[in-house]
Amino acid sequence: MDGRYLENPKPLERSLERIRMLQRTLSRKKFLSNNWLKTKTRLAKQHERVKDFRRDLFFKLGALLAQEYDLLVLEDLNVQGLVQKGETKRRRMRLYDSSFSELRAVLEWQFRKRGKLVLPVPAYNTSRECFLCGGINQSLTLDDRVFHCPHCGFTLDRDLNASLVLLKRSGWVPPSVPAVELHPIPPLPALGLVGRQGGAMRQEAPPFMAG
Ligand SMILES: [Zn+2]
Repeated sequence: MDGRYLENPKPLERSLERIRMLQRTLSRKKFLSNNWLKTKTRLAKQHERVKDFRRDLFFKLGALLAQEYDLLVLEDLNVQGLVQKGETKRRRMRLYDSSFSELRAVLEWQFRKRGKLVLPVPAYNTSRECFLCGGINQSLTLDDRVFHCPHCGFTLDRDLNASLVLLKRSGWVPPSVPAVELHPIPPLPALGLVGRQGGAMRQEAPPFMAG
């Protein structure tokens, strides 16, 4: 647990935006017309690019994490409890969107390959639970980037708090609130993604961390 996080890669977001655009265009074309077919082909290519980019990113990220960390704690999305209302539905869509299950499979494979531990923990209420006192902040929305506990006043970056909650669920008990500074995983260039990344994370990334 050292506060490293991964920004949503810009090229990926651009591709996804292009896909949405092409889908809109496609819906306006006459079915099976030349223009329809052209758009359809471009759409398929864009989907292919997204798939390749993700796979590449996942494998490089997995290799990096499995090299540097001994334990991977991640949210078990199969655990019942995620089926909640409101925020959860959007959240599930986003997780689907970021192909979390593929990422997870790759990470698990990379860690197990090196004889390291992968520990799924229940995903229930992760973002809303206070790491310090275990209280729940019911009013936390997706737009709140900072977690503030209404019970004990604990205040921390939202994703960092959620990560700590997951670590706690894994059985890891820190001596005190660890002094963790957030910083993006710098070696994205080292991941072979030079010049193709950048920008701030606007959406909540699927929380995963290694500790
Ligand atoms: Zn609290």
